[in-house]
Amino acid sequence: MAGWEQHVRKVIPYVPGEQPRQEGMIKLNTNENPYPPAPGVARALREMDPEQFRLYPDPAASLLVDSLARRYGLASNQIFVGVGSDDVLAMAFLTFFNGKKPILFPDITYSFYDVWANLYRIPYQCQPLDEAFCIRPEDYERENGGIVLANPNAPTGVAAGLKTLQGILEQNRDVIVIIDEAYIDFGGDSAVSLIPSYDNLLVVQTFSKSRSMAGMRIGYAMGQPRLIQYLNDVKYSFNSYTMSQASLRLGAEAVAEEAYFLDTTKKIINTRERVKKELTGLGFVFPDSKGNFIFASHPQISAQELFEALKREKIYVRYFPKPRIQDYLRITVGTDSQMDILLSFLKDYTSIDRP
Ligand code: PMP
Repeated sequence: MAGWEQHVRKVIPYVPGEQPRQEGMIKLNTNENPYPPAPGVARALREMDPEQFRLYPDPAASLLVDSLARRYGLASNQIFVGVGSDDVLAMAFLTFFNGKKPILFPDITYSFYDVWANLYRIPYQCQPLDEAFCIRPEDYERENGGIVLANPNAPTGVAAGLKTLQGILEQNRDVIVIIDEAYIDFGGDSAVSLIPSYDNLLVVQTFSKSRSMAGMRIGYAMGQPRLIQYLNDVKYSFNSYTMSQASLRLGAEAVAEEAYFLDTTKKIINTRERVKKELTGLGFVFPDSKGNFIFASHPQISAQELFEALKREKIYVRYFPKPRIQDYLRITVGTDSQMDILLSFLKDYTSIDRP
């Protein structure tokens, strides 16, 4: 090791899902939305004048912040925006988890949480989900330095009810509780309604899934003003201009089109429920997903084998070779016709006689 390497901040990075660019592929591996962004986004993009890119964007991101505040019935000082919810969550970890006690999150959850904890040297303890992949609220009653829960959870799709979350908040008034609602628009009850009652609750959402804008990188957090102020103080100590002119404008356009948003999320929910029935018919088992994906296992065929067989057909799904979940595939819900191709392949593949 070179001398200077001793002082390098060494981390094991998060590994995002593949982004293959193959002709004719069916991409069901990173929970993107198969439908285009709202029509107003395309319109605004056409009208955009590159001259504006000469100037820095508004550091307060007011156009986007105000539109989100209106959408959620909150004040503008209750909204924080960032470059995807990954950026928002990373800022929240840096801001709120600055103590010595371990933060708590489930053993099976979004695999970025332990990466940020390690990056920022935040002590953490994973709490095991039960056999049905549900959180056990009593695990979050011990002393801790903060709590992070994805709801619905990833990669399982299991959602905890608001009563359960409220119980956890009641037991943890002196630490920050982050609820990561990346998938909430596809089912489950949002904790936004609890914000007035808990000054320690931060709810994080994203444009990447239900608003079809993963490529624009827009995420946001909602909470009481003091929480948002602390987040902004850290953001302004890190990078004042996180949101580009384009993401501010196009993000605000997407929020304005509520009917389109409701229509596309409903389509995905309907497709998901149909695919659940068909997968059950093929012998798959899965927890009841409220996200835009299904976390499915086949009792006779290994997930790795299926993952590879699907890939040969240019159908990409996500496989996590990790304890407790190595028998599962996470399958993003695409369009009906994409899912029909997937199901037809799985029907043939599962009907092959096996010794
Ligand atoms: N939280 C969860 C639970 C996720 O699955 C994802 C998607 N990888 C994110 C946050 C981050 O999404 P984005 O940065 O695109 O908003």
